[in-house]
Amino acid sequence: MIRTSLYIATFTLILFGIVLLFVKPDTLILDRPIQFSQKRIDMTLDYIHTHYDANATHITIDPRIIVLHWTEDDNLTRSFGYFDPQTVPSSWGNVTQASPLNVSAHFLIDREGRIWRLMSETTMARHVIRLNMDAIGIENVGGEGSNANLTPAQLTANIALVAHLKHKYPKIDYLIGHYEYTLFEGTPFWREKNATYRTPKSDPNPQFVEAVYEATRTLGLKRASDIAPQGL
Ligand SMILES: [Zn+2]
Repeated sequence: MIRTSLYIATFTLILFGIVLLFVKPDTLILDRPIQFSQKRIDMTLDYIHTHYDANATHITIDPRIIVLHWTEDDNLTRSFGYFDPQTVPSSWGNVTQASPLNVSAHFLIDREGRIWRLMSETTMARHVIRLNMDAIGIENVGGEGSNANLTPAQLTANIALVAHLKHKYPKIDYLIGHYEYTLFEGTPFWREKNATYRTPKSDPNPQFVEAVYEATRTLGLKRASDIAPQGL
């Protein structure tokens, strides 16, 4: 009888361990919110009205694409500082002209592989022209001087975060690097009322995106090159 109880106790412990393994991805996300007052909410809705849909009534997104970036800065504090202010710096040329809403991303991964959540995952962030209504943005601290210097710890963290997001939002179909966003031209994801609004992007380095993709292959995500224009 005692032996049976021991077996049951051991079995329960193992089961608990397995459950813990599955919830682990949630625990590795740390919250470090950027400023998001009513002002940023209003500017986000204005951005959607101007660029995507004049009749939109909310700033919520239904994630379909994960976009990987780097900040072009190797320092975490400075990288966070790019996204924290609510309005875009006046010196940012056509970015400022297109909207006063500052750029942002949902996640920022530092050089040690810590994952910082900057804002709600289902609120529109301004990180990828034309695709913002469908895309979750993951920024990586690094790439200063266009150096392909993202760390092994960042690679591990990106893989874990992509897997976590795909499980949380099963409708996510694509994993792309920011440099690939124009491949969506001609598809329903390609939204923009201003036909000329686009900027060439080269972040992050393609080898990094490929490595994240290879490691998450079993999730069945597609690459930007898989999308057939008008063929969704
Ligand atoms: Zn980018």
